Amino acid sequence: MANISLQHLDKIYDNKVQAVFDFNLEVKDGEFIVLVGPSGCGKSTTLRMVAGLEDISAGRLLLDGKDITTAPAKDRDMAMVFQNYALYGHMTVYENMAFSLTLRKEDPNVIHKKVLAAAEILGLTDQLNKKPKQLSGGQRQRVAMGRAIVRNPKVFLFDEPLSNLDAKLRGATRREILLLHKRMHATMLYVTHDQTEALTLADRIVCMSMGRVQQVGTPLELYDTPANLFVASFIGLPPMNFFNVNIANGKAVNQYFSVALTEKERELLAGYEGKEVTLGVRPEDVDEGGDISVCVYSNENLGMNTLVHGRLNNAHAADAAITCKLRGWCDYKAGDTVKVQFVKRHFFDRETTNAIR
Ligand code: ADP
Repeated sequence: MANISLQHLDKIYDNKVQAVFDFNLEVKDGEFIVLVGPSGCGKSTTLRMVAGLEDISAGRLLLDGKDITTAPAKDRDMAMVFQNYALYGHMTVYENMAFSLTLRKEDPNVIHKKVLAAAEILGLTDQLNKKPKQLSGGQRQRVAMGRAIVRNPKVFLFDEPLSNLDAKLRGATRREILLLHKRMHATMLYVTHDQTEALTLADRIVCMSMGRVQQVGTPLELYDTPANLFVASFIGLPPMNFFNVNIANGKAVNQYFSVALTEKERELLAGYEGKEVTLGVRPEDVDEGGDISVCVYSNENLGMNTLVHGRLNNAHAADAAITCKLRGWCDYKAGDTVKVQFVKRHFFDRETTNAIR
């Protein structure tokens, strides 16, 4: 069992920088939580407060109902996997994985069993006698995970574990971490700035900006119903397009297009008649057909899709830029006009930046 309760956590560093504001989260046993957000938003600080590597300035932290707010890191029964692996270069893979248990003076037979079992899970059985420098980046990352696994901790903490790997290896290691989670049913907290990692790994995502939680939810919830402009622009790649529009007579209108609102959208926007709101449309929700005119300036074939970057009505203003992810292989040339439609729209309040729901 490992439930973690983060209650009103604040972190103020000695230099008076407040890195985390009122962080609240109930992590269920066995849950895979991903903290995601841009660099400097307070993700690592939050993780390090959970690990006991940073003092908690205010708030409470509970593990299975027990208050561990001020407990030393070594008493928290958590294992952390770092971005830079932090392996000992002079020790073999085996010794690296055994290290924490050796320190604890566990029975060598038990250590041997645990290291072999972890190596088996991670596919490192043939590498146990090698030194870290003889391994690939992906293998080193697995040794770092192995070192965490042998301790059989209640909670695994990952701080950007894949960011030193190349794109291909990142994908493969991501799948290994997922399998590991399934196999071990462990509670995991994982920090990344990469929205793809968040969407593919998490049971629930915590999206942060400037020290504050913006939204907590399943990957689908954050993708489908982002709570505000920040989450809408951070989750999804390429990012959502945004346009200022006026709501009038059942339409969302600006100088570039006029979109007829559905019945549901009219209800949603009832309070905004005559007002300006932000309309968001994901590139993948722009389809060919319809009457919105896009002047193409680049056509990128991705295989299954084509990314078309263009300008609404051939206008040069910054707010006329649009990215469309069109189905199939398109061969537009710069200067071509494509007629498109927005098949799914999101609306945001201009003042609060919150989604209009
Ligand atoms: P992230 O992990 O999202 O990139 P961090 O948690 O590392 O962000 O940092 C959040 C904020 O706290 C940043 O403004 C950063 O500069 C600041 N910060 C991080 N560590 C310290 C520290 N030891 N002392 C002072 N400020 C820090």
